[in-house]
Amino acid sequence: MKTFKTGGIHPPESKFTENLPIENMPVPAELAIPMNQHLGKPAKSLVKVGSEVKKGELIGAADGFISANVHASTSGKVKGVKPLPHPSGQYAMTVLLTADGKDEWAEGLNTEPVNWRGLSKEEVIGRVKNAGIVGMGGAGFPTNVKLSPPPDKKIDTVILNGAECEPFLTADHRLMLESSDEVIEGLEIIASLFGERAKAYIGVESNKQDAIDALSRKASPKGIEVISLKTKYPQGAEKQLINAITGRTIEEGELPFDKGCLVQNIGTAVAVYEAVCKNKPLVDRIVTVSGLEIGKPKNIRAVIGTRFSDISAFCGEPKTGTNQVISGGPMMGKALFTLDVPVTKTTSGILFINNSGIENARERTCIRCGKCVEVCPQGLAPWLLANVAQLRDFDEIQLLGLANCTECGSCTYVCPSKRELVHWIKYAKALVNNRQQRKSA
Ligand code: SF4
Ligand code: SF4
Repeated sequence: MKTFKTGGIHPPESKFTENLPIENMPVPAELAIPMNQHLGKPAKSLVKVGSEVKKGELIGAADGFISANVHASTSGKVKGVKPLPHPSGQYAMTVLLTADGKDEWAEGLNTEPVNWRGLSKEEVIGRVKNAGIVGMGGAGFPTNVKLSPPPDKKIDTVILNGAECEPFLTADHRLMLESSDEVIEGLEIIASLFGERAKAYIGVESNKQDAIDALSRKASPKGIEVISLKTKYPQGAEKQLINAITGRTIEEGELPFDKGCLVQNIGTAVAVYEAVCKNKPLVDRIVTVSGLEIGKPKNIRAVIGTRFSDISAFCGEPKTGTNQVISGGPMMGKALFTLDVPVTKTTSGILFINNSGIENARERTCIRCGKCVEVCPQGLAPWLLANVAQLRDFDEIQLLGLANCTECGSCTYVCPSKRELVHWIKYAKALVNNRQQRKSA
C-alpha cells in the first residue's frame, strides 16, 4: 500500500458517521452568507437591504485575481449586509438572507446535465470561475486559478484527494460512495484541461475499501487509477499525497505544479462537474456533524450560510457535556466561540466534543524525546521551531524551514510534555507575514 515517506501518526479514526447516508437538511428561515469563504480578497457584495434574489443569483463578485464569486443559496429577501461572526474566528462582511420558502432557482441554473466534451478549455475554466468554486477540502483556494498554472508548468499528473485522513470526517467518503459518477466525471473534466498525457488518479485511504471498490469499477475503463493509500495522518495533505502516489517531493518554496502535479478535493470535483455540466453555482456542500456529544451524528447536505446553531438543532442538539465545538477536523480545525457562524464553502465538519477527560493540557518543559521530529511529515524539528518562535527570533526561524510547516498538528499530538508546538509555529508564521507585508508596504 502506498504512503508518504517521512513521519505520520495514527490517531483513533472515530469515523462514527461512515455508514450514514447523506441527508438533505431543509433550508433554514435565515441564512448568513459571508463574502469571505476563500483564500484571497473577499468578494464585493452586490446586494442591499430589501433586494430580492433567486437561488444561485450572484450576490458577491470576485474582487481581483485571487478571489471568488458568492451566490444566494436560496431564494428570498436581503435583510442586512454587515460584519458577522465567521468560522475563522474573525468577523466577515455577510449577506443576511431571509428565505421565502420557495427555494426557487434563477433562470438557466441547475439545468439537466449537458455534454462538456464540446467545450473549450477557456469555457470550462470560465464556468468554474462563474460558479465560485474553491478548494472544498479546507484551503479554499479559487479553483479556476489552480486550473490555470503558468504556461511553462506542464501538468502530467492530476490527483483527486479522497484520503479524508482527519478523524471523524466522512463527508468525502459518503460523496465517493453516493456520487461516484459525478466524482469521476469531475476528474475527467479537470484532467482534460491538461491534454491527453495527463494521468489521473484518485487516492483513497485503505479504511474506505467500499469507496475504493465503487470508484475502481467505474474509473478503470476511463484510464483513471484508484490508489489504495495506507491509513496514516496526514495522508491527505497535498505534499504527502503527491509523494505517496508519484514518489515526487515538493521542496521548500515549490508548488505542486513545479513537479507537474495538480491536486483537487473530492467535493471540488463534484462541484466542477455540476458547474460545467449543469450550470450550478456552489451553493451547498456536504458536512459531517459528529463527535460523541451531538444527539444524532449525521452527514448532511447544507446550503452555504446555514448557521451551526440550526445544524445543531437538526442533529438533535449537543449533550450537556459538550465543552468544545470545532469547525473542521480535530487535527486542523478551529475551536469556535459561538454557534452563530455559518457553513462556508470550506466547512467539512462540525464536531461536538467533551474534552474534560483529556489529560491536563498544561504545557511542560521539553524533555528532548524527539517524538515530534520523528512524526513530522515535513522533516522539521518542531521543538526547535517552537523554541525560536517563543524567543521571537523571526530571522532564525525562517532558516529552520518555518514556511515548510503544513500545520498538520502531528507534533503537538504526540508531544508527551503537551507543548503547544503548532500554536507557536502558527504564531511565528503570522508575525513573519505581518513583517513582510509591512516591509513591502
Ligand atoms: S505541524 Fe508543522 S512542524 Fe508540526 S508535524 Fe506538522 S508539519 Fe511538522
Ligand atoms: S515531542 Fe515534545 S518533549 Fe519531545 S522533543 Fe518534541 S517538544 Fe520536546
